[in-house]
Amino acid sequence: MSYHANEKGYYGEFGGAFIPEMLYPNTEELRQNYIRIMEEPSFKEEFDQLLQDYVGRPTPLYFAKRLSEKYDTKIYLKREDLCHTGAHKVNNTIGQILMAKKLGKNRIIAETGAGQHGVATATVCALAGIECVVYMGEIDIARQAPNVARMKMLGAEVRPALSGSRTLKDATNEAIRDWINNPVDTHYIIGSVVGPHPYPDMVARFQSVISKEIKNQLLEKEGRENPDYVVACVGGGSNAAGAFYHFLDTPEVGIIAVEAAGKGIDTGESAATSALGKIGIIHGSKTLLMQTNDGQITEPYSISAGLDYPGVGPMHAHLFQSGRAEFISITDDEAMTSGLALCQLEGIIPAIESSHAFAILEQKKFSPSDVVVINLSGRGDKDLQNYIDYFKL
Ligand SMILES: *Cc1c(COP(=O)(O)O)cnc(C)c1O
Repeated sequence: MSYHANEKGYYGEFGGAFIPEMLYPNTEELRQNYIRIMEEPSFKEEFDQLLQDYVGRPTPLYFAKRLSEKYDTKIYLKREDLCHTGAHKVNNTIGQILMAKKLGKNRIIAETGAGQHGVATATVCALAGIECVVYMGEIDIARQAPNVARMKMLGAEVRPALSGSRTLKDATNEAIRDWINNPVDTHYIIGSVVGPHPYPDMVARFQSVISKEIKNQLLEKEGRENPDYVVACVGGGSNAAGAFYHFLDTPEVGIIAVEAAGKGIDTGESAATSALGKIGIIHGSKTLLMQTNDGQITEPYSISAGLDYPGVGPMHAHLFQSGRAEFISITDDEAMTSGLALCQLEGIIPAIESSHAFAILEQKKFSPSDVVVINLSGRGDKDLQNYIDYFKL
């Protein structure tokens, strides 16, 4: 069985491109060119150079000694929290800005919920000197003032989405409308392994640098390229896709995807898509998503803004359905407790998204000889207010 996208963008029965006809020329131009461009030596050279000198790659693979002692297994942390801008998202936006330049585009649009992808996009637009418009729901603009300020400082225009619930899905609708109206000069940077083909595959390829580095680093530290388990949190699924990518076809490597259970799977306030989702279409791809019996998308909830998404990318839907990956869901309380434990055991303040991945250590027993790699997708600076409120610091 293949766990990669086929040429139509399908992972098993999931994926594809379910888009309005007016968007077809835009995605088709990208589809016809993305692999060729990514394989050009000049593209690879510029991408690798920027990942090294601008993002700070390779990020360390850190043996977490005290965490390992606590859980009696060998735990390594892949330190995506040390990337420029504080998370893995910039790996993808660097790749896409170079792609946009190769396609002759001189304007970038993006959508953002909590603002993390908006900041990563505004960053690379400043780097490249390209105009940047970020769509963001009016409610989210009010809730995420620091990230709005960051985007403005970086030179981006933040346009409020005023329709519907005035959150992420409305911002996405506005971005798509913009792209339909500006098909020639504009590239749309999607922030996770979601959206119509070729986005999920393109974003997974850009993020796959994470597992490529893990292999090299494990070989050096453990004398073998493959861990026994690789663990990552899943919102849309891009950090997980990057951490899993080069292990997908190696069945000896156990893959663990961690979703947000919010206040509990059965409380109606959750974002545990694999547990609650059914097949449907969201953002132009066929995947698992949380919906009512009439097919209306359910409003998701998680304490972590990055996991607060009602679907998962089609790669993850397929990993779930085929049984290749084990899916575990973690509540707000479990994630917050494990996040604080990581601070005090290792001196690392994780993003709340990443804290979900650490919480599985409380649920799943590994053996002392197991090598477990946990992808530390981002740092917790952005979540300080949440930690303060939760722990009454
Ligand atoms: C955005 C974000 C996520 C969730 O997005 P994925 O596409 O699932 O990786 C996870 N962790 C951090 C730190 C994030 O900023």
